Amino acid sequence: RLYNEVIELKGNIRVYCRCRPLNDDEIAKGSTLVVDFESAHENELKITGSDVSKKQFKFDHIFKPEDNQEAVFAQTSPLVVSALDGFNVCIFAYGQTGTGKTFTMEGTDGNRGVNYRTLEELFRVSGERSDIMRYELFVSMLEVYNEKIRDLLVEDANQPAKKLEIKQSAEGTQEVPGLSEVPVYKTDEVWELLKRGSRVRSVGSTNANELSSRSHCLLRLTVLGKNLVNGQRTRSHLWLVDLAGSERVGKIEVEGERLKESQFINKSLSALGDVISALASKTAHIPYRNSKLTHILQSSLGGDCKTLMFVQISPSSADLGETICSLNFASRVR
Ligand code: ADP
Ligand code: MG
Repeated sequence: RLYNEVIELKGNIRVYCRCRPLNDDEIAKGSTLVVDFESAHENELKITGSDVSKKQFKFDHIFKPEDNQEAVFAQTSPLVVSALDGFNVCIFAYGQTGTGKTFTMEGTDGNRGVNYRTLEELFRVSGERSDIMRYELFVSMLEVYNEKIRDLLVEDANQPAKKLEIKQSAEGTQEVPGLSEVPVYKTDEVWELLKRGSRVRSVGSTNANELSSRSHCLLRLTVLGKNLVNGQRTRSHLWLVDLAGSERVGKIEVEGERLKESQFINKSLSALGDVISALASKTAHIPYRNSKLTHILQSSLGGDCKTLMFVQISPSSADLGETICSLNFASRVR
């Protein structure tokens, strides 16, 4: 590889925790804080709810409610830059609906998230290397809903969706034939492109938040590199994934379409947990084929690929049960 990473990365799998602030609604309802950062060791947090007192969880990094998007990206940028060195990278946001997965990945106009900042950083670093390297960048965006893959960067979102499938290439990598790949040349144009994709994501649903919490949204950046000195070429994928909400659906809601949805979500999130924990424990058999999500990411998970998971949590006493579930998931993959 040409360049050393800025921060030394320990191992290929990292798990970060990000806790959002209490919102106005929770404050009005008198919800209390159940996450304690202060009395735990560095990179540990404590849950202070009654039944789980003294439960501690360790992470590679913890973002507190006051940590902003810059602080989050500062810990993420070395990983995204490794895509320019030819590594495949996957970054996930995991957690209960409402904990800030979309805020972390997509962000808002005034508070842009990891997706936009990643493209900005790739452009910046490729500019710095322009005397030795020539890079081309392509953006694809897709949704996995009920184990079906949908292209989010189609020209006309009102056209019936093409059915996309995962195929293995001659080189043994997993590809999605027919998926749109949009070449991007400068930072200015990418925010609009990303917003276009997320608008398409909500087409056909009466409530945008509702549907987006039930599907996985995958942004795929394809990086082609050419070394101008020795002619060597690299091709890598950087995946930025806003996962479906991890919450267990209440018993009363579980019927019909909703039951099917939640079974697909449970299946794919547990498949992802199985794959990452198998990789972390260096098990020989990695069960990629158990869900579309893990199958599509197969060539970018494991080997010398780099993985980062943001486990998003709520600080509120009202969400304690789900918070414990998310923290347990995090312990399993770390
Ligand atoms: P999710 O995608 O996990 O369902 P969202 O990203 O939609 O959650 O976040 C829910 C709400 O909380 C949004 O209004 C979002 O702007 C806000 N929010 C989430 N995380 C933060 C944060 N770290 N700081 C400020 N607001 C946040
Ligand atoms: Mg969301």
